[in-house]
Amino acid sequence: MSTLSAHQLQHCKQSLEERFRQLREEIRQELLNSEDPDYQQLATTVHDTEEESVADLLLDLNLADIDRHVKEIRQVEAAQNRIEAGNYGICIDCGVAIPPPRLEANPAAARCIGCQTLYERQYAQPGHASL
Ligand SMILES: [Zn+2]
Repeated sequence: MSTLSAHQLQHCKQSLEERFRQLREEIRQELLNSEDPDYQQLATTVHDTEEESVADLLLDLNLADIDRHVKEIRQVEAAQNRIEAGNYGICIDCGVAIPPPRLEANPAAARCIGCQTLYERQYAQPGHASL
């Protein structure tokens, strides 16, 4: 059971939709700027798609800048799927309710703070500089 009120859930849903549109537009711009005709073609597809998963369309891309946005859009899509499934706001690792303020600050959050910290520690990329 989520501790989010219907109003909070609605708010998170709207934030996710907005973020999704923003990310899709950023990805489209990056594809257009790539100077690769294949990517420019893909930009049109990304723009036109409503039903398909944008993340799936972009699965095979290998552009670092876009990759960052694809990762985020995938998190947004996953959160939207959890809303559909009725288990939004529940930590996907430990099953506790994620505090509503965390969800309002980061509507795509899939984990409680404790699990997120563990997850990031576990999957931190060795190649990435961490200060
Ligand atoms: Zn957790």
